[in-house]
Amino acid sequence: EDSSSKPAKKKVVAVVGGGLVGALNACFFAKRGFDVEVFETREDIRTAKIVKGRSINLALSHRGRSALKHVGMEEKIVSQGIPMHARMIHSLTGKQSPIPYGKKGQYILSVDRANLNKELLSAAETYPNTKLNFDHKLQDWNAETGIMTFVRSDGTKANIEADLIVGCDGAFSAIRKQFLRRSRFNYSQTYIPHGYMELTMPPINGEFAMKPNYLHIWPRNKFMMIALPNLDKTFTCTLFMPFEEFEKITTGDEVITFFQTYFPDAIPLIGVDALKRDYFRLPAQAMVSVKCSPYHIGDKCVLMGDAAHAVVPFYGQGMNAGFEDCIVFDEVMNQFNEDLSAVLPEYTRVRVPDDHAIADLAMYNYVEMRAHVNSKWFLFRKHVDNILHLLMPKTIIPLYTMVTFTRTRYHEAVKRWQWQDKMINRSLLLCATGAAFGGSYLLIKNPPDISKLNINIEKLWNRFLAFGTS
Ligand code: FAD
Repeated sequence: EDSSSKPAKKKVVAVVGGGLVGALNACFFAKRGFDVEVFETREDIRTAKIVKGRSINLALSHRGRSALKHVGMEEKIVSQGIPMHARMIHSLTGKQSPIPYGKKGQYILSVDRANLNKELLSAAETYPNTKLNFDHKLQDWNAETGIMTFVRSDGTKANIEADLIVGCDGAFSAIRKQFLRRSRFNYSQTYIPHGYMELTMPPINGEFAMKPNYLHIWPRNKFMMIALPNLDKTFTCTLFMPFEEFEKITTGDEVITFFQTYFPDAIPLIGVDALKRDYFRLPAQAMVSVKCSPYHIGDKCVLMGDAAHAVVPFYGQGMNAGFEDCIVFDEVMNQFNEDLSAVLPEYTRVRVPDDHAIADLAMYNYVEMRAHVNSKWFLFRKHVDNILHLLMPKTIIPLYTMVTFTRTRYHEAVKRWQWQDKMINRSLLLCATGAAFGGSYLLIKNPPDISKLNINIEKLWNRFLAFGTS
């Protein structure tokens, strides 16, 4: 046999973790022609009876969609999602006011996590050079030899070697443990005081109980509830609250009293009995933010997705950032011709500042979503930003738009936002000062007959605020 006509044997890539990012990443590596092996602790969720996991649905936006597009999955996933064009803010009295996410036609999508994961696993499996290994839990691995030890539920163990190990095993990554033992590895993890609990809002007469094309938010300063629509016409409501508040509620009646005080309009929609029951079904879950650097060890191992950067869920970017990791890695692979000893350090260099920026932004939004949206100044500024964006679409771009509807690098979006914010605030101050001087001058020149003036400033202000939200 003529060995020169045979293509060189492709390297073996082991993707550890078959969650959202691992399954998508398997497609990226398979597309490049590597021999891909995915190792996942859980059994195959496509055939399992009970699927344990985190949030039932999540918001997919531009970055995540771009990554799906790379592997030909965008259309399919988008067709299974529900567009959400605006936030719908629920006041204490039950009044609902929309705040659009961006320009007309811009929306985020509510997608079913389990279904997305299943679709990605099936997509990975369509590549003949990919093998999915379920019931394989990474126990340990050796950073020198690259040998990984997996345990199966029957107690058997397997030692496996690969040319590249891709750690996509989530916020509590077992792959990352070896990084922690190395010198000059930076690591921080922060649990926020809030936990989350999911509650289901069933359909009413076969229809959605609330308007479906919105991300519903009940901001109550110290805590909040949100609701995302599902294809089966239910909503998944997520209550975010400090653990100590969750623990104060110990009986069904206390749940109802709490909802009557803070979310009265949601009681008939979720149902009194369901609320009393479901609140105690599962304990509130913790949320952690993890930052680390570097993301690689030599040319052997790289972390992506939550394993590299778990973020709190308040910007709806955790999965989107993880999906974007796959594109960035792919771009660096092109740039360095798949030379892993150059690709891995470059990936760390370009990606760390961006993932750290989104971790910080998510923490910032943790306050913005539950508290700032209740402030009139904040709403006023949102309108000013949106109007300026319409007038000068290239100069002023709202932060949310950059993060959600573009692939502007996260750290550049933050820098630009800080600059814009300074400029807009200065201009507003200048306008206000100018108006005050101009107004005083006119008043001095032509003093009005005060008794004839019948202007209600507060009403005008409220009209102005209502203008952009309706
Ligand atoms: P995971 O989804 O955690 O997957 C890790 C996989 O690795 C799992 O399948 C696990 O079983 C497997 N695994 C773990 N350990 C091992 C091991 N030792 N060996 C083998 N396999 C292992 N993001 C958004 O973009 N939009 C949102 O709206 C959004 N909402 C969210 C709401 C909540 C309440 C939460 C908690 C998160 C939300 N996120 C959202 C974030 C999103 O869930 C994560 O960023 C995303 O799941 C990360 O994917 P991943 O594949 O990196 O990790």
